[in-house]
Amino acid sequence: MSGREILLRAEAVGKRFGGFTALQGIDLELRAGERLGLIGPNGSGKSTFVNCISGDFAAHDGQVTLAGKPLAGLKPHRRARLGLARTFQLPQPFTSLSVLENVRVPLLFSGEAAEASRRALDCLEQVELAGKADKLPKELTQVEQRRLELARAIALRPQLLIADEAMAGLSHAEVDQIIALLLRLNAAGTAVIMIEHIMRAVTAFAERLIVFVAGRKIADGPPQAVLALREVEDAYLGK
Ligand code: ADP
Ligand code: MG
Repeated sequence: MSGREILLRAEAVGKRFGGFTALQGIDLELRAGERLGLIGPNGSGKSTFVNCISGDFAAHDGQVTLAGKPLAGLKPHRRARLGLARTFQLPQPFTSLSVLENVRVPLLFSGEAAEASRRALDCLEQVELAGKADKLPKELTQVEQRRLELARAIALRPQLLIADEAMAGLSHAEVDQIIALLLRLNAAGTAVIMIEHIMRAVTAFAERLIVFVAGRKIADGPPQAVLALREVEDAYLGK
């Protein structure tokens, strides 16, 4: 991937909640099409970092650019237009809308209605949910709800998809389904940041790994080398 252009650049990103520093001095360069794993203990700042990139936290320290464009001041939907998509740790569907309508929502402002419906169905096919298009989200199983969350995220054909613990609570076979889905999206050109506690998913998917501990990035490199680091092991053992 080293020949590809920089897609996302984060410089000195930090976030405080009152007097508490949740994130500090995060630098990251991600190339187009890259598969990055982001790991770290609970509370280490992973979701906070996603929220800073996605615009869900309006104010933070530092700078983030996507394909060279500064993201500061842009609301989440504007960032989505620029090619940035994220999923939430807890799926957040519109509960009163059908599965298909949930995927259409992000598309409605960017084209005509018939085209939005076609694209939404295409996204549902990609996550193997087309057969459930008319169901309500609550009628889906847990893994189907995760797949719906991913379908909504990919509706606008993102250049970068950030999946925040998209596999939590799933069975071994269901985790494999989500990994396969993310690999297919990546093969079609989408860069992916996978935030995940399930280590076998991270090592199966990521070509590069970064580690957060207490709001700081403590490692960045090839997965096997990063996982062999003493400070990474210590972080997970709580030392
Ligand atoms: P992770 O995703 O790595 O588990 P988070 O980014 O969710 O960690 O949280 C990092 C730290 O910031 C935690 O101590 C958490 O309690 C705190 N935090 C996260 N979001 C908020 C918020 N909206 N208000 C106050 N504290 C928060
Ligand atoms: Mg989190």
